[in-house]
Amino acid sequence: MSNTRKDWTTNEIRAIYDKPIMDLVFQAASTHRLHHDPNVVQVSTLISIKTGGCPEDCGYCPQAARYHTGLEGNDLMSVQTVKAQALRAKASGSSRVCMGAAWRNVKDGQEFDQVLEMVRTLNKLKMEVCCTLGMITENQAKRLAEAGLYAYNHNLDTSEDYYKDVISTRAYQDRLDTIDNVRKTNVTVCSGGIIGMGESIDDRINMLVALSSLEPYPESVPINALVAVEGTPLAEQEPIAIWDMVRMVATTRIIMPTTQVRLSAGRTEMSPEGQAFCFMSGANSIFAGDKLLTTPNPDINSDMDLFKSLGLKAQAPFVKKSQPETVEADSSKLEAIGEKPKWTRPEHTIERNELSRTVKE
Ligand code: SF4
Repeated sequence: MSNTRKDWTTNEIRAIYDKPIMDLVFQAASTHRLHHDPNVVQVSTLISIKTGGCPEDCGYCPQAARYHTGLEGNDLMSVQTVKAQALRAKASGSSRVCMGAAWRNVKDGQEFDQVLEMVRTLNKLKMEVCCTLGMITENQAKRLAEAGLYAYNHNLDTSEDYYKDVISTRAYQDRLDTIDNVRKTNVTVCSGGIIGMGESIDDRINMLVALSSLEPYPESVPINALVAVEGTPLAEQEPIAIWDMVRMVATTRIIMPTTQVRLSAGRTEMSPEGQAFCFMSGANSIFAGDKLLTTPNPDINSDMDLFKSLGLKAQAPFVKKSQPETVEADSSKLEAIGEKPKWTRPEHTIERNELSRTVKE
């Protein structure tokens, strides 16, 4: 099977997703073994470097300023605080660290310069450094690459159709444009989605069509189960069945065989057996730490117990791609160019988002 195939159709992917579970898991596990060590799983740590107060209206997110979720926000962390957290993560077995900021898009200036310094600092710790900062321009992507960024996360979340029912403050095309900007550098792309937001199976499949048709497809695909947080528009969503997660992971593995499939949010609701099924189906990364940005996550000790029971080993950094070099700020050939990008603001009405709205951002 080609690992660059980008012409998967909705019907083909749906046929894979709908297979009997035993056939589906067997096919996914067989594909997985052709491209990865089945007993190795990457442990990643997510650090929320700037929490809450986000102007966007993502219906699943407790960090949106307009929803009353009782979340305590914080301003951008210092480089030293982030470094200390990354060192702790490394000591607990993480080979990758992802820094998340609750921003609509990156703005040139002191805060972005501080993030660039965080990237330089963490790259020197010999960890894969990832950022998720919202929409970015080509010049911003190049500056992150120059600082030594390994990956940029920008999730498609769901299908283009269903996206309009979850978010009104930006368009699907903005997501694709940011991914395109990252692709103009050597930074790898991390992009996936969330299931359990009320979408149809075809929405899940169409998100996979969109991801697999990127050229090339993302090096990393997180599959999240919604963590329904009180105060957000999606608070009343029922948790998804483990078999939905297994189907999604297995299908992702089959159609994007070389990617790193990340079993992301929602693991606290999964039994050890359910997670083991996901690993067998091709998931080869987890996020460690008792918080995933702002929502609960299993603690590192229970993850390490699970690894021990299953005979899994933590993946070393840079096994898929070599470590990027870091150019120091005073040697940089790139600088802010004063762009004013026109990211979209559709602002159509999503009734459940309006009903949850308590704060005018
Ligand atoms: S998901 Fe990101 S962009 Fe959306 S509200 Fe949350 S922090 Fe903001």
